[in-house]
Amino acid sequence: MTEYEPVIGLEVHAELLTQSKMFCGCAVVDSTEAEPNLYVCPVCAGMPGVLPVINRRAVEYAMMVGLALNCTINEFNMMFP
Ligand SMILES: [Zn+2]
Repeated sequence: MTEYEPVIGLEVHAELLTQSKMFCGCAVVDSTEAEPNLYVCPVCAGMPGVLPVINRRAVEYAMMVGLALNCTINEFNMMFP
């Protein structure tokens, strides 16, 4: 018997089929074919003072994945800078 309980977390990076990027309205393009720096704005470039807005469709897709994997979806989430 041990006093420790193993807790394993996963961080998953995936590309969802959205029309725009995760935190701005820039179009999602095939980075292997698009010209460099053409689909970039101050938000996705991470410039100081910008206000990222989360992509609603991406959140919906992510929740669908979570539900399909029988995960618990929190009713409230908050992102801290
Ligand atoms: Zn952008």
